[in-house]
Amino acid sequence: MTRGEKLYEGKAKILYATEDPQLVIQYFKDDATAFNAQKRGTIVDKGVVNNQISVHLFQWLEREGVPTHFVKQLSDREMLVKRLEIIPLEVTIRNIVAGGMAKMLGLEEGIVLKQPVFEWHYKSDALGDPLINDDHIFALGAATAQELAHIRQQSYRVNDVLKRYFAQRSIDLVDFKLEFGRCQDKILLGDEISPDTCRFWEQGTKRKLDKDRFRRDLGDIEAAYQEMLNRVIGAPAAR
Ligand code: 5GP
Repeated sequence: MTRGEKLYEGKAKILYATEDPQLVIQYFKDDATAFNAQKRGTIVDKGVVNNQISVHLFQWLEREGVPTHFVKQLSDREMLVKRLEIIPLEVTIRNIVAGGMAKMLGLEEGIVLKQPVFEWHYKSDALGDPLINDDHIFALGAATAQELAHIRQQSYRVNDVLKRYFAQRSIDLVDFKLEFGRCQDKILLGDEISPDTCRFWEQGTKRKLDKDRFRRDLGDIEAAYQEMLNRVIGAPAAR
């Protein structure tokens, strides 16, 4: 598969066309942004780490019955994925209070939620991905009721699978963001799953091993990303 024209450049990734119109190359950059791109920086080798982590987690999710856009890894920073018509929504699932939920409801970070919290956000950098509900989505015609039900069900499944996966590696999956897209008559999980899009806390110490180290200037960012890669590709702890 060879890289064709650049189709889209986002904050952390670039999409390139290939000779197959159904397939695109997802290239992972080292660029990091936060707070709606007001804060910008570079995390050395983030692209390599996030590509590897995403490859591994997409393969794991496929094995657990969640269809994704992943086809195969092409290089350190590139994966081949199915071309999707991205649905302009971001799903967030939260297991522990942090970030946006702590701010919105005036809660302490770290409260373990009695059940996962599912949120729809409208995908818009200009608006800061605002929280919306099903009515907004239908009123905008962004997706159908059937599509929303399917995405919700798949997202909960991703949470169950990943919570278990990370617990076996002594990591709490605090929250994460997912994006989905249409591919022929199917809906597939797209984008990436990495320390850029999830909050990971080491069990016991609550050490943050994700992009919050960049957002909050906590230092040791590269080491935290590398640590997450080692945990993801490492064997589960014996229980
Ligand atoms: P929050 O709403 O608390 O800022 O984010 C919840 C979770 O979703 C966090 O794990 C965060 O990393 C992820 N997330 C939400 N929106 C975005 C986004 O626009 N980009 C990225 N990379 N992650 C996001």
